[in-house]
Amino acid sequence: MAEHSMTLVEPDGGTGERDPLVYRDEVLHIEGVRVDAIAQAVATPFYCYSSAAIREAYGTLSRALSPIGVSVCFAVKANCNVSVLGLLAELGSGMDIVSGGELERALAAGVPASKIIFSGVGKKRAEIARALEVGIHQINVESAAELDVVISVAAALDLRAPVALRVNPDVDAHTHSKISTGRREDKFGIAIEMIPALFAKAAAAPELDVVGLAVHIGSQILDLTPYREAYSRMADLVASLRSRGLPVHRLDLGGGIGILYDQNAGREIGEYAEIVRETVGDIGCELTVEPGRWLVGPGGVLVTEVLYVKETGDRLTAIVDAGMNDLMRPALYGAVHPVLPLRHDRQVNSHIYQIAGPVCESSDVFGTYAALPPLQLGDRLVFGCAGAYGASMASTYNSRDLAAEVLVDGDRFRVIRRRQTIEAMLALEEGSEWQIPRAEPAKDVERVFRQTA
Ligand SMILES: *Cc1c(COP(=O)(O)O)cnc(C)c1O
Repeated sequence: MAEHSMTLVEPDGGTGERDPLVYRDEVLHIEGVRVDAIAQAVATPFYCYSSAAIREAYGTLSRALSPIGVSVCFAVKANCNVSVLGLLAELGSGMDIVSGGELERALAAGVPASKIIFSGVGKKRAEIARALEVGIHQINVESAAELDVVISVAAALDLRAPVALRVNPDVDAHTHSKISTGRREDKFGIAIEMIPALFAKAAAAPELDVVGLAVHIGSQILDLTPYREAYSRMADLVASLRSRGLPVHRLDLGGGIGILYDQNAGREIGEYAEIVRETVGDIGCELTVEPGRWLVGPGGVLVTEVLYVKETGDRLTAIVDAGMNDLMRPALYGAVHPVLPLRHDRQVNSHIYQIAGPVCESSDVFGTYAALPPLQLGDRLVFGCAGAYGASMASTYNSRDLAAEVLVDGDRFRVIRRRQTIEAMLALEEGSEWQIPRAEPAKDVERVFRQTA
């Protein structure tokens, strides 16, 4: 794992406007609240988000994009806490969801269904039905087979389904392979050359209202040129459909804008807005973007406590109480999150540690960090840039209960999700009565055999 020297925030201010973390009197604060004060009230590990950072990010994004008429649908999977969704909804954001569960979260946060877009390759009939019943803004259809299912569900409900076709533009986003979605061999979207025929079929179906096209080429995209390529292909496709008499009203541009994990910051959004303007700004479509990470990543941290320090080969390893089940990105993608001590002291912050979690997997290692203070049992550390794909990806592996989540606003904080507790986990495991399944008729058994033989 890469050696990582963390960014130290200057004691008199942040590294940037969007950095929610600041050392004041050498003590780490998130906005106006000391991190150690929260840790006294909430057991570690816990996630903590800055309202100011999220507001600032949303403001910056909408200032860059609204002049070109682009609306924002936050990708719920990046951070699905209902309070975080509510904060974004208050700012005017719509939501991009990928499951029925996320639909219920968005609705619970007070987001009107008319501002929700349903993406995802594997929607079930019941999820599609629920989305249509609540009056979803748009379903992004990802295959010819899904289009047939949407038609059938809409017919059964006697409702008209607003659909967009998600295009696989065959563009490599040059990001980590596990978060690349726009290459031909990726499972997402419909091959671009299949779109005209499918769009025509959809336009002819009375159960459908075909509103446009969608594209999403991947996540944590730092080199923005693939966007230019993908959006140009979309503009050409829109022109080609229109020339066949097929109107395209909406274009959903997806998300994926990357952030700078080593600086606790989002990258400049102006360049992205410029690409949108130049490629699709004047094709007469309603435009939407679906950023997740960029809006909430830099504004969140994971607070943890050192359990043990041990010698491992030629270095020291600090075992902390947050593991890969809490923050999966390092184990899954080799991602490196910055680590900050709760006290800032240039003199003593010169020690190198490997930081690892308690989970019984060799991949449960966060990285090797320089510029740390000498660590002892009970010391607390903060993983920065953990507001996106942190809590929302957490699991209970090793029977570790889901961590609490905290929201800070100015000089206040509140718990926005309680720690799960082991009792709550165990409560799901009370077995039911034994059941004997009804036997298959013999001829069916024979048929199954012949099919598989
Ligand atoms: C995950 C996802 C997003 C958000 O990606 P980020 O990298 O968090 O911006 C947007 N749209 C779709 C369809 C997605 O699957």
